[in-house]
Amino acid sequence: MDPLIFVFLLLFGCVIGSFLNVCIYRIPRGKSIVTPPSACPECDEKIRPWQNIPVVSFLLLKGRCNNCKTKISVRYPLVELLTGFLTVIVYYWFGMNFEGLAALFLLYYLVAVVFIDIDFRIIPDRIILAGLITGVIIHVAGNFMSWKEILVGGLIGSGFLLFTFFLGKLLFKKESVGGGDIKFGFMLGIFLGTQNIIVGLFSSYVFAALIGGGSKILQGRAPTGEIPFGPYLALGSATALFFGDDIAAGYFAWVGF
Ligand SMILES: [Zn+2]
Repeated sequence: MDPLIFVFLLLFGCVIGSFLNVCIYRIPRGKSIVTPPSACPECDEKIRPWQNIPVVSFLLLKGRCNNCKTKISVRYPLVELLTGFLTVIVYYWFGMNFEGLAALFLLYYLVAVVFIDIDFRIIPDRIILAGLITGVIIHVAGNFMSWKEILVGGLIGSGFLLFTFFLGKLLFKKESVGGGDIKFGFMLGIFLGTQNIIVGLFSSYVFAALIGGGSKILQGRAPTGEIPFGPYLALGSATALFFGDDIAAGYFAWVGF
């Protein structure tokens, strides 16, 4: 990859990541993501343009508010860097085309959903709606997946999670997935299509078992079911986005199809 393109994409992605930080903070609080300009949540001091440069400002300010010196979470620059590198990886993997654009939008939504779900245990309707609209627009413009594929993908995504929802209630008398997950599943299926939403759901459960089981062993107690399912769905979907074809092919080879 041309180093100039690499730097440009990384910076572009970091700027998007900075916007995602705003979304992660404001959307679950029911605030506008456009106005007012960012301010320190502690002292309300407006964040000046030079303090709003992704990653760089965090380092210049040594991770503290310029005014009240309250610590700024290291998660802000990490989300920016994550989004930056995801942007580079998508370009490398898919190239500059509609498939890449769909992948990029999906990953940006996933980043927002992961951190909002961890913080608030919700997946906001605003994000799901934005995802559905952009997903459909990119599919119409790019025409790289059939309508049947898109719609069936959405139905599998939400249908399977709905099934899990009822199964969890029936067997364990608790909600393993929430209503937000079911709507989110539809959005994921629209982006991923039939094959990859199946791979994505499967991978989500594998991640949930591995990470949930791992944290159980580390903490020496039963998982409380407190880890929301959204981050696992996001992780599974990202896996399907990049490796869906390989995983599906591997599976069919394994069962001797
Ligand atoms: Zn402050």
